[in-house]
Amino acid sequence: MSLPKTSFAMVQTAKRELTPMDIDIPDISEDAAILRLEVCGICGSDYEQFEDVLRTPMPVIPGHEPLGVIAKIGDRAAQRWGVDVGDRVAVETMLSCRHCDPCLGGSYHLCDHRKIYSYIPLSEWPGLWGGYAQYMYLHPNSVVHKVDPSLAPELAVMFNPLGAGFRWAVDLPDTQPGDTVVILGPGQRGLASVVACREVGAGTIIVTGLAADTDKLAVAKALGADHCIDVDNEDPVARVKAITGGRGADVVVDVSAYATQPVADALRMVKMGGKIVLAGVKGFKPVNEFISDYVVTKEIQMMGAMGVTSKGYRAAINLIESRRVDLMQMHTHDFKLSDAALAIRTLAREIEDDSSIHSCLVPEH
Ligand SMILES: [Zn+2]
Ligand SMILES: [Zn+2]
Repeated sequence: MSLPKTSFAMVQTAKRELTPMDIDIPDISEDAAILRLEVCGICGSDYEQFEDVLRTPMPVIPGHEPLGVIAKIGDRAAQRWGVDVGDRVAVETMLSCRHCDPCLGGSYHLCDHRKIYSYIPLSEWPGLWGGYAQYMYLHPNSVVHKVDPSLAPELAVMFNPLGAGFRWAVDLPDTQPGDTVVILGPGQRGLASVVACREVGAGTIIVTGLAADTDKLAVAKALGADHCIDVDNEDPVARVKAITGGRGADVVVDVSAYATQPVADALRMVKMGGKIVLAGVKGFKPVNEFISDYVVTKEIQMMGAMGVTSKGYRAAINLIESRRVDLMQMHTHDFKLSDAALAIRTLAREIEDDSSIHSCLVPEH
């Protein structure tokens, strides 16, 4: 594959400001590679970055859900990663050091020196650290997974939300066949959690959403949810208690963004000895009505979920490649790379279009 000299990219230069730029494609070492992007998925984290919630350094190329083809690769990287030029790969978001205690203890996603693609600024060579671009630099410590090249790219790129579904709703709470799982929030991560729980044989899957989420809840049903609860019109705790004969849910997974009420609800709807996974970020707001005595008296196991690791991504890619589940029901929008701001605003429902579930950016080559 011959490479152009530069890559078009949408660069975040300020809060809510994405600027088109051409960035040099670098010469690479034996340990690195260049990815030619096919699509880049977007999610709620893209909106947070657009809004500069975390005050991370700029200018920067966002885009943490890249899928593409290896355009160039050093010999040592090809050997270590087991991929070559022309292979389609999913790229993991986190870059870990592989030397610190968390890395050596097997939790590379919690690396003391972790870097995250899409948050490394342009000032750090070679600048092409994000998926809002035609090409991306793959650092020697990248983790990539081969993906079947015959899949539609919009489908293949769902390794990201689906990987979260497997890690957050199945692996971390150790969801078992027959379990009742409540998923708080019907966004792409919530829907991916439905798919993952269905895959491992959960008994009853319950999804909550707002009155405005009717379409998403319908997709949840189509993907295997047994019950949907509209929290604007129903008491979710009472409904979960009714569905479970008063016992409560085995597992509750919160994937709702910014709302804190679901966390308080989770404590009340989980069963004695049940598990709660918190994966939706709340902008560092405290939770009102957080009654810790529930945690004590019910012996609730509460855990946080930060990102996805290889096990979840592999489970997701296997399921996508099996073509057993019609995941394209979740996919609602494709945007040109140059329309990245519009894509994010559509996702965040700032635009007169509330149908967005899963969407992605498609660069032109
Ligand atoms: Zn994301
Ligand atoms: Zn480390």
